[in-house]
Amino acid sequence: MSSYDVVVVGAGNAAFCAALAAQENGARVVVLERAPESENGGNSRFTAGAIRFAYRGVDDLRQIMPDLTEEEIARTDFGTYTEDQFFDDMFRVTRYRTDPTLCELLVRRSFETMKWLRAKGVRFQPIYGRQAFKVDGKFKFWGGLTVEAWGGGPGLVDSETAIARSRGIDILYGCRALELLHDGVGVRGVKVRQDGRIFDIAAKAVVLACGGFESDPEWRTRYLGPGWELARVRGTRFNTGDGIRMALDIGAAAYGNWSGCHAVGWDYNAPEFGDLAVGDGFQKHSYPFGIMVNANGRRFVDEGADFRNYTYAKYGRVILEQPGNFAWQIFDQKVVHLLRDEYRIKEVTKVSADTLEDLATRLEGVDAAAFLEEVRSYNEAVMTDVPFNPNVKDGRGTRNLAVPKTNWANTIDQGPFLAFQVGCGITFTFGGVRITEDAQVVDKDLAPIPGLFAAGEMVGGLFYFNYPGGTGLMSGSVFGRIAGTSAARAAA
Ligand SMILES: Cc1cc2nc3c(=O)[nH]c(=O)nc-3n(C[C@H](O)[C@H](O)[C@H](O)COP(=O)(O)OP(=O)(O)OC[C@H]3O[C@@H](n4cnc5c(N)ncnc54)[C@H](O)[C@@H]3O)c2cc1C
Repeated sequence: MSSYDVVVVGAGNAAFCAALAAQENGARVVVLERAPESENGGNSRFTAGAIRFAYRGVDDLRQIMPDLTEEEIARTDFGTYTEDQFFDDMFRVTRYRTDPTLCELLVRRSFETMKWLRAKGVRFQPIYGRQAFKVDGKFKFWGGLTVEAWGGGPGLVDSETAIARSRGIDILYGCRALELLHDGVGVRGVKVRQDGRIFDIAAKAVVLACGGFESDPEWRTRYLGPGWELARVRGTRFNTGDGIRMALDIGAAAYGNWSGCHAVGWDYNAPEFGDLAVGDGFQKHSYPFGIMVNANGRRFVDEGADFRNYTYAKYGRVILEQPGNFAWQIFDQKVVHLLRDEYRIKEVTKVSADTLEDLATRLEGVDAAAFLEEVRSYNEAVMTDVPFNPNVKDGRGTRNLAVPKTNWANTIDQGPFLAFQVGCGITFTFGGVRITEDAQVVDKDLAPIPGLFAAGEMVGGLFYFNYPGGTGLMSGSVFGRIAGTSAARAAA
């Protein structure tokens, strides 16, 4: 039987942060990844690499991105994103349900964890394409999300993998953890299956960082509710709740929003699981600048309630709840230049027409007459006297509509018109196991389980109902690093 100080289960961002932290604290580490190497990186690989952290201004950003040029600084308003703003965002979107201890760690450790990742060799860059619009010749960032990993999610995972290897961390692909070895007192390793062979790996500590249960239709339906088996999975097919199940099997406490998840508007014809060649391109996140209608031709949600960073993760559920589980996003020529890059991929469900009447006949599954009536009353309600500004919550809303639009309302009257059909794409689940501030998993008496730590998606308690964009990678980084450090200490 092989033996290590620390076994890390999973090879996504949270796992690599745990592995690197354990290694720097003197542990001999192995990373076990269920996927074959050709599909490595979990959901982390599917991301844009956008990562949310608190910063006081451009001087802080320079520490994360020493390559930032004077020219970039001159043409960009990076603004600030203080710890208080990060707290406010977490509290607001989770309706004050986020666990205060976990949230405090997430926010207060965010900047130092970014510096730690940079010091390890992970590179970052400003996320110009998606999070900043140019106004009066200057890019202005909005929504607290300013930085992405170099090369996006694939770049992040590839650099973390290379750094781990260069530090002597072993990585076993196609190696699925099946159960935790537990001697009645604490965790002593894991039972795994690789190449059809089942064997044990002994360890003084185990870090579970192997994702939520988003990729298992039965668990989704059981915990998120009826209809969730119909959602498409945005990322990896391998996050089927194994880590959560293994921990629960030895008495770990369940925690957090088990009926909640991160889910977005996702191309209606996207495949069952994520496609690495397309990455996050199936998402359609420019809805704040248009309207969304359902099969009845009706709007059903405030598309402009907030910046997309604060609404996109909950609107997938709203779309799933519509008749037929779909919606069409509608845009006219006034806003086409604002559409994100994902609207221009070839794998897109899109129709266009010169007139609204023509468009109405092309919106598959939609009541055409009701749609035309809906657009007419929406157009009449737009506050055209308020100036439109995509960089701020401009207050250009609608008047007297049953379903209001609060910001960025524009009339839909300038053809050719574009429409994109979306369904629900699930990103990750919010419920998981409960951890201490040392990222140690606790049992149902809330007593820490010796030798067991967890990080990333499978930790419950941080996110409820909704989620601020870019926080998944940050949470994995902060708690991965804590879990790895604690595991190495436990192993010493
Ligand atoms: C399309 C998409 C876009 C996203 N964009 C962003 C973004 O821009 N910014 C952001 O912050 N977040 C984003 N997210 C969310 C983000 O991906 C996750 O929050 C984060 O990557 C989770 O990291 P993790 O390490 O916990 O899980 P993962 O990266 O999913 O890693 C878990 C790993 O565990 C492995 N595994 C599972 N079971 C086992 C087992 N039994 N044995 C061994 N290994 C196992 C899996 O194969 C997987 O590789 C996005 C997600 C998706 C799907």
